[in-house]
Amino acid sequence: MNYPEIELYIGGHWRRASGGPIINPADESVLGTVPHATKADLDDALDAAAKGFALWRNTAPNARAQIILRAAALIRERADDMARAMTLEQGKPLDQARLEILRGCDIIEWDATEGMRLYGRVIPAGPGLQHTVHRQPIGPVAAFSPWNFPMSSPARKVAGALSSGCSIILKASEETPAGALQLVRAFHDAGLPAGVLNLVFGNPAEISSYLVPSPAIRLITFTGSVPIGKHLASMAGQHMKPAIMELGGHGPVIVCGDVDPVTTAALSVTAKSRNAGQVCVAPTRFFVQESSFETFAQAFAEGASRLRVGNGLDPSTQLGPLANPRRIEAMERLVSDAAARGARVLAGGQRIGNRGYFYPLTVLADVPDSALAMNEEPFGPLALVNPVRDLDEAIAKANALPFGLAAYAFTNSADNAQRLSNDVETGNLSINHFVASTAETPFGGVKDSGYGREGGTEGLSCYTVARNVSHKFN
Ligand code: NAD
Repeated sequence: MNYPEIELYIGGHWRRASGGPIINPADESVLGTVPHATKADLDDALDAAAKGFALWRNTAPNARAQIILRAAALIRERADDMARAMTLEQGKPLDQARLEILRGCDIIEWDATEGMRLYGRVIPAGPGLQHTVHRQPIGPVAAFSPWNFPMSSPARKVAGALSSGCSIILKASEETPAGALQLVRAFHDAGLPAGVLNLVFGNPAEISSYLVPSPAIRLITFTGSVPIGKHLASMAGQHMKPAIMELGGHGPVIVCGDVDPVTTAALSVTAKSRNAGQVCVAPTRFFVQESSFETFAQAFAEGASRLRVGNGLDPSTQLGPLANPRRIEAMERLVSDAAARGARVLAGGQRIGNRGYFYPLTVLADVPDSALAMNEEPFGPLALVNPVRDLDEAIAKANALPFGLAAYAFTNSADNAQRLSNDVETGNLSINHFVASTAETPFGGVKDSGYGREGGTEGLSCYTVARNVSHKFN
């Protein structure tokens, strides 16, 4: 079956513990057990992270980068085995799992090399006086990663912390632990000193309420839902800890009348079906100029209906199962509510079978603003397609929700692109394509979608503090 045994990793050593089952979403079989850390394990992790930080912050940036790059090379060598384990635990098709790993490696490699360029600056002062700004690693980090990207989400956090000279305790998802375990194993095998990276699982609320207030921890980073993000951010605030909050979205897509609606619909099917829509940057609310609306909606529905749904291990599968039964429940609730309010179901709309969490790509048209799906992040294979009169209406609707993570627009007009770049309330806007983030660009939200950035120079700077040294010479 190729599913690894899941262990905790504390102070450079692997630890077994009892815990809960890990479920394969394609057939609901048990893949293994995820160990639950005790308070004693967490105390050991905090102690290890403090010692690891003392060592790592004083390791030359070039030496740090070499170890991190060695880990990325090991991950690339192991990508096939890693991908298989991630498809088993999370459901996404094997080629998507492999791409996630390779993308994670791109991030690790970019951060590792950029970590050698965390330069400070010298500020001119009077004679006999010098001000020097140092960018110093902030300290041990507590990181919480979600189940939808088992490898690349932990990779972003680990790469950001380690490349900046911080140590980290990673609390990865209990539902999809193999992605994080295999990532950590590569760093262990690459020769990372003990304590710099620690991996725990357990009860998320118990772990966060133990780690966040600990004086050893200097930065919190969380990827997940808005309510949990707000809870952790307030806990971080109480203890005066800075935080990176990468929370939910409700991706608007503005399709102007000057682009080909059929080509844009085909791109939309691919983007919406990625990871079965369980992506914080998933395109969800499509606002299509009236002249193209029916053609776009029909082409989208036809493309959605043609997708091959099945077990992600089958190479012909394009849409795997949802990751857990909570997502099936959410799809059923959102679709029945929208249909009851008058939305047209153009494709999908019914769970497939009753073993494994399969749900088709569902396209709803003419969805009223009052529908739950227009307001709540679906986090699943649900696309909402509505007509708009003009760009003003499209931008107003895009900005109507409290989210602002990723937005998309399709237009050949430079004027439209300029308006969109200025007026859409979002952390990331992609025009004429659906890639929301890359290793070298800052990624993150505005409004309820969070704060802080992952990726790019902005992402690394979140793991540092500026210290000014003012030196008077005799
Ligand atoms: P949830 O709100 O229960 O959990 C979200 C994540 O937070 C999970 O990874 C969970 O382990 C973790 N978590 C929960 N309570 C925690 C606590 N007290 N301390 C630390 N971590 C905690 O929801 P869910 O059912 O797992 O996912 C549903 C929603 O979460 C989705 O609809 C989506 O909006 C959001 N989500 C977002 C992302 C993202 O990439 N931004 C990823 C996963 C889930």
